[in-house]
Amino acid sequence: MNKEFFDFDLIIAGAGVGGISAALAAARLQMRVLLIEQAREVGGTGVFSSVSLVCNFRDSWGKPITNGIHRELFPTSYTHYSEKLVPTYDEQELKAAYQRLLASEPTLTLWTDCEVFQADKQNGRIVRLHIQGSRTATVTAKIYLDATADGNLSALAGLEYKLGREGDGKLQSATATFKVSGIDCSQLKEPDIRQWTAIHSLRRELLPYYLDMKAAGGTSNPRQGITCFPYPDGKALLFNSTSVLDVDPTRPETVTSGREEGIRQAQELFEAIHLHPAFHNAKMDYIAPKLGVREGRRIVGEYELTAEDCLQTRRFNDMVAACAYSLDIHSPDGGATRLESIPKPGYYHIPYRSLIPKGCANLLLSSRCISGTHEAHSSYRIMASVSAIGEAAGTAAALCVFQGHQDVREVKTSHIRFILQLRGQFIEGEVERVQMPTRPAW
Ligand SMILES: Cc1cc2nc3c(=O)[nH]c(=O)nc-3n(C[C@H](O)[C@H](O)[C@H](O)COP(=O)(O)OP(=O)(O)OC[C@H]3O[C@@H](n4cnc5c(N)ncnc54)[C@H](O)[C@@H]3O)c2cc1C
Repeated sequence: MNKEFFDFDLIIAGAGVGGISAALAAARLQMRVLLIEQAREVGGTGVFSSVSLVCNFRDSWGKPITNGIHRELFPTSYTHYSEKLVPTYDEQELKAAYQRLLASEPTLTLWTDCEVFQADKQNGRIVRLHIQGSRTATVTAKIYLDATADGNLSALAGLEYKLGREGDGKLQSATATFKVSGIDCSQLKEPDIRQWTAIHSLRRELLPYYLDMKAAGGTSNPRQGITCFPYPDGKALLFNSTSVLDVDPTRPETVTSGREEGIRQAQELFEAIHLHPAFHNAKMDYIAPKLGVREGRRIVGEYELTAEDCLQTRRFNDMVAACAYSLDIHSPDGGATRLESIPKPGYYHIPYRSLIPKGCANLLLSSRCISGTHEAHSSYRIMASVSAIGEAAGTAAALCVFQGHQDVREVKTSHIRFILQLRGQFIEGEVERVQMPTRPAW
């Protein structure tokens, strides 16, 4: 097959929430964007691992600290907010929203079923990417964005990274989620499963069935409890309750064997809860097609965000995003999950420097692979923060191209914040008016 050649303003590898938010932000600033996704369809973890919960993106008083593109993706979690309701989404609706928004941008090109497999670097810059899959191509751009979650593009470019927790390098456990419908909610103590109290009550009702099976040696799932969330219509549940250890996305064979183990655990759990009267006629609609891998490479950047930054609600002069979600470490050893809330005012800043990898002038990190510790990553990895990170990265990349900078470090964060603020994103700190990036018609 002949190799094609293409040139863009910016190229984004990975079309999960981080890559898509970056692509939309940059395309809306009229950049010629190429978004490359190795899967057949866009969506990444939030669609194909079915994660369901819109994790907290509000400060201690309920005010959103993530807005912007995240609001377009999860509108009802803003318009129908109530502390009593479990804020969830349907992954098929999210995928449809992604497709609709991406298709509405004339300067955005999407290639699915395509993998970036090589990055050529010269003098501290990426000079071209090589693509294989549904197309065989060489592509170039002024700026590149790593939105692969696991830092795959940065690793291809030979950049430094960290993996797992300090000391032993072990990663958070992985999960195969599954959807259950056909539940007879009238058999539950609290039938309206859209409510938090009903979900907690339901988990308590199901627990003895699961523990009986565990005691009889019927599962290898190390979890002690059951975690499930309702779908928005309150008619189905997403079980996020399996736990697979030693999955490392840099060793693909562990992801393959991990999915097999996750499927086994999902079937065992379903068999156990089937004994509850509300689940006698329930059916398992599907097991998520992609194993939910929580953690991968964390690229070493100009600033490493730490657990102390999160828990001390640190403010940074170069903030470009914020996060309100707890530290949430699914134990790499199979023990209990460590959940630690962000104290008042309930959120911390994510600095631009954490999006800039060391050793490369024209690359930005645009997914959960930003520079941070194992603990900090367990917090900002949620979709709200990753969307805000992506929106900031796409905006910074557009400014870099438009202003003719040679290095992403030259972009002023007061300019990034100005545009983010104009676009409705939550920002704090100094803003400086800047000419909006535009391109002449071509
Ligand atoms: C089990 C589980 C439960 C979770 N629960 C929640 C929850 O309830 N709420 C919440 O907000 N968050 C949750 N999270 C976290 C959240 O879903 C993810 O951290 C987030 O979606 C990651 O987004 P991303 O854009 O960084 O990466 P992804 O969505 O993983 O996207 C990365 C994309 O890059 C592509 N890619 C990788 N390498 C290449 C390459 N070389 N070339 C081209 N494409 C490539 C991949 O195919 C993928 O589509 C959960 C995560 C897991 C695993």
